[in-house]
Amino acid sequence: MVEPTRVAVTGASGYIALHVIAGLLDQGYEVRGTLRDMARGDKVRAALARQTEVSKLTFAQTDLTSDDGWDEAFAGCRYVQHVASPLPMVEPKNHDDLIVPARDGALRALDAALRAGVQRVVLTSSIAAIGQGHEARDNFTEDDWSVATPEIGAYALSKTVAERAAWDFIAALPEDKSLELVTINPSLVIGPLIDPDGSASIEVVRKFLAREVPGSPKFGIGLVDVRDVATAHIAAMTAPEAAGHRYICNTEFRWMGQIAEQLNREFGPSGHPVPTRVLPNFMVHLVALFDPVVRSILPDLGQKRDFDSTAIRRDLNWQSRPMDETVRATADSLIEMGIV
Ligand code: NAP
Repeated sequence: MVEPTRVAVTGASGYIALHVIAGLLDQGYEVRGTLRDMARGDKVRAALARQTEVSKLTFAQTDLTSDDGWDEAFAGCRYVQHVASPLPMVEPKNHDDLIVPARDGALRALDAALRAGVQRVVLTSSIAAIGQGHEARDNFTEDDWSVATPEIGAYALSKTVAERAAWDFIAALPEDKSLELVTINPSLVIGPLIDPDGSASIEVVRKFLAREVPGSPKFGIGLVDVRDVATAHIAAMTAPEAAGHRYICNTEFRWMGQIAEQLNREFGPSGHPVPTRVLPNFMVHLVALFDPVVRSILPDLGQKRDFDSTAIRRDLNWQSRPMDETVRATADSLIEMGIV
């Protein structure tokens, strides 16, 4: 019998990684998920078992900030999906709290992949590594890089520095060593949860449904469905032409007010009314005095910063669900899991 191909997925407890693992298991791959806390293995397995067959899933322990365990984790793997990176709800005061684990973790993953004879690493980067530190415009492409200065914020800086370090690592490989790298650069990821511990990115929909916000700022962002992000990661793993490329993974730009309108229309009648008024900019500026998350969106109030997904659609034959379906599925999932 032919042995199934083994894939390592880092940060197996995470929102996106769970969807990547589910997709890989569905396609017959054997998956080695890494966790920084092995005690979470049972919970992760149980969550995945609600949606797929998990007999080909094993776990190994790695932490982005430690050298331990990487060789065991990647042993026998042909591919690595390096998804883990800190994504906190609130930006830390000290930028290094994000930059160091993001950058050093990416380098540890690449180094270990090289030692294990892995063919290709797919690294989850972000549009935060592409469009920050520039004037807003609606046509950022993979040729663009965020300006790596503290002003872009700790998270964007961590993703920019980590992705740069990864490409530099590949460029510096001696001729007798080979390792392929592809990066997937998603916009804001929403969509159904596999485990109730969702990502910070789900907060946009959760806060509306929980009526924790009085309305919407005139702020918008590119959005993408987590299931489509997973499909992109899996396609990037084997498509020959993907090696050496970064891919923006973005369905479309939406204003927060559009999301609120849809949620209120579809979920208001069943007991989840959502405030639909658009907040005047002066009010958003006032709130920003006390709220660092709101402060981070001030430069983009009223601006459209959008990202071109032509390359991923062309090279990986990537298709994305309609965004209305994604917003609906996110809300359904939050309600079903009792989160709102
Ligand atoms: P998430 O659910 O918070 O997942 C983050 C994962 O990283 C978790 O598994 C977490 O482990 C792990 N992690 C954090 N610090 C770690 C450390 N020091 N050592 C080992 N593991 C560590 O967030 P997500 O949305 O799935 O994000 C996954 C990836 O997608 C990240 O690289 C993120 O930058 C990228 N991304 C996300 C979005 C988005 O909108 N969600 C958009 C673009 C890119 P624990 O569970 O143990 O904390």
